[in-house]
Amino acid sequence: MTNEEKIERLKVHEPDPYNDATAKAYVEARGLCTYCCQDGFSSPAGFWSSHIDHLLPKNKYPELKLEPLNCVYCCLRCNIWKGSMDPLEHWKQSGEDVSDPLKFLRERRQEIIGFVKLWLKEKRSRDAEEYQKITALIRDS
Ligand SMILES: [Zn+2]
Repeated sequence: MTNEEKIERLKVHEPDPYNDATAKAYVEARGLCTYCCQDGFSSPAGFWSSHIDHLLPKNKYPELKLEPLNCVYCCLRCNIWKGSMDPLEHWKQSGEDVSDPLKFLRERRQEIIGFVKLWLKEKRSRDAEEYQKITALIRDS
């Protein structure tokens, strides 16, 4: 079955059909979190906690909420940790023209994904240190 056929089948899936953006994100990722590569299809719990992340956050770019280029499949943890972080701020601070977010997504989507992956990796490492400090504090007798 081709990817296009898989997408079309998800769009008519019962009882809950996927929208175009979500179907494309699922098929593109094949169950692997776009950011950390965790296999979301390895268990029912992983599957049911799978998320669609908006590369450019939907609260800031509501017009891109259903844009397939803006949607990526990811795990619950990565989606929560990314939150409403806007990767375009990185390019804006570097002086790049990001006045047309959709054009930027079309031309630089893989770079944006790479930036988010790195940002999350650094955040995970800071959060792991915080977890250890708090756990030691709470459980120290
Ligand atoms: Zn992940």
